[in-house]
This record gives sequence, C-alpha cells and structure tokens, in this order.
Amino acid sequence: MPTTEIEYPVLQHFLCIAESRTGMPVQPTDVAPEQPLRAQQKQQEDDATPKQLPKGVVLGPDGKPCRSCTSVSAWFAMANQQTGGKTKSAAAVTPKVSSDCPPDVEQLGRSTWTLLHSMTANYPEQPTVTQQTETKQFIGLFSKMYPCWVCADDFRTWMKQGNEPRVSNREEFGRWMCEAHNAVNEKLGKKSFDCNKWEERWRTGWKDGRCG
Ligand SMILES: Cc1cc2nc3c(=O)[nH]c(=O)nc-3n(C[C@H](O)[C@H](O)[C@H](O)COP(=O)(O)OP(=O)(O)OC[C@H]3O[C@@H](n4cnc5c(N)ncnc54)[C@H](O)[C@@H]3O)c2cc1C
Repeated sequence: MPTTEIEYPVLQHFLCIAESRTGMPVQPTDVAPEQPLRAQQKQQEDDATPKQLPKGVVLGPDGKPCRSCTSVSAWFAMANQQTGGKTKSAAAVTPKVSSDCPPDVEQLGRSTWTLLHSMTANYPEQPTVTQQTETKQFIGLFSKMYPCWVCADDFRTWMKQGNEPRVSNREEFGRWMCEAHNAVNEKLGKKSFDCNKWEERWRTGWKDGRCG
C-alpha cells in the first residue's frame, strides 16, 4: 500500500482531535492551491485511524506538530507521551521552559501584538498615500506569513468580514488593531480590551504615571 494511503487518514484524525479539543479550526478557511495535503486529509476523513495527541497540539500543513500553533503545556505533554510517559493531559504537565527555546503560540502572540500595537503607536497622524498603501500591504503579507497558520487563517477571515485595515491616520489604525486583537481575545474566551485606552497602553503610558 502506498505511504499516502496510510498517513493521510492518521493526520486527518489528528486534525479532528486538535479541533475538538482546542476549539481552534485546524482546517484552513481558504485553502491555498499550494496546500493540497490538507484537501487530501479532508477527503479521507472517513478512513481515519484512531491515534491520540494531547489536548491542544495543532498540526502544521506538513502534518507535523506545529510549535507556533501549540501551547507550551500541550507541547510538553506530547513530548512526555513520545518519551514513554503516561501523561496525555496538558493540564497534568508543568513545563519549565528556558527563555531561549522556540516560542509557543502564546509567547509568539504576545511578542507579535507588541510589535503590531507599537507600529500603530508610531504610525503618522497624517500618513502619505504611500505609507497607507504600504501599511495595508504589510498587514496583508503578515496575515499570510504569521507562523501560527490557524491564527493566520482566522485573522484573514476576520479581515474579509468587513474588517479591512483602516489606515487613514494613527487613531484609526490603532483602533483597528485593537479591534483585531479583541476578535482574537473573544475567540479565546478572554476579556475584551477597552479600545478607548489603546493609546495609553501602547503609546503614551497610563495616566497614573506608572509607565514613567
Ligand atoms: C494575529 C494573531 C492571531 C492569533 N490567533 C490566535 C489563535 O487563533 N489561537 C491562540 O491560541 N492564540 C492566538 N494568538 C495569540 C493570542 O492572541 C495571545 O497573544 C496569546 O494567547 C497570549 O495572550 P496573553 O493573555 O498573554 O495576552 P495577549 O493577548 O498577547 O495581549 C498582550 C497584551 O496586550 C494588551 N491587550 C490585550 N488586548 C488588547 C487589545 N484588544 N488592544 C490593545 N491591547 C490589548 C494587554 O495589555 C495584554 O496584556 C494570536 C496572535 C496574533 C498576533
């Protein structure tokens, strides 16, 4: 039997497990032509062969676990499983991660939001047409290249739902980014941030003076 007939059903099953346990869609919302593997996984869904991955482990387009898409606790649970440990629950594992390890989905997210909000904070109050065009291009490319592909897919989908980048001036761009971040917060069940305060958080510092 060809290798593909064995592997793809297994991978599809992993995707289903990841989706049901994380609540994150593991199938891309707009499948690019260069990603035929995912389409084949979907077609062979019915042939799935049972295999367990710990909660929260998300596979990448190559069918391998995607570290940038997975929390560090889920990653450690998987590593524990692979090395013969009996623990399959992410909650049962307490990882101690060195600061020079590859980022998990949360660390990558925090760093990225810091960059994105800081870009809005330093955006001109009166940008040129070229600056506006280039900013839109950046966001478009960012949404394709963000290393957590499930995050990127959802971000592109959100933008297509009437949320195209608003870049006419700093205030508008800062608010748009805040709304984009809130869309992810909402998806993850986190508290919404008050977008009236985006500038205090990311540009001026809080009025109580704690940021100097
Ligand atoms: C484009 C994108 C898509 C993502 N999609 C996913 C996903 O699908 N699944 C997933 O697990 N993770 C995703 N992430 C990561 C996720 O958003 C968080 O970064 C991660 O969960 C860590 O969260 P946190 O609670 O530490 O704070 P973060 O959400 O990273 O926020 C960092 C800080 O920003 C401030 N802040 C919070 N909300 C706002 C806001 N609306 N406006 C301005 N400032 C704000 C707060 O001070 C907060 O402490 C995504 C990240 C990005 C950049």
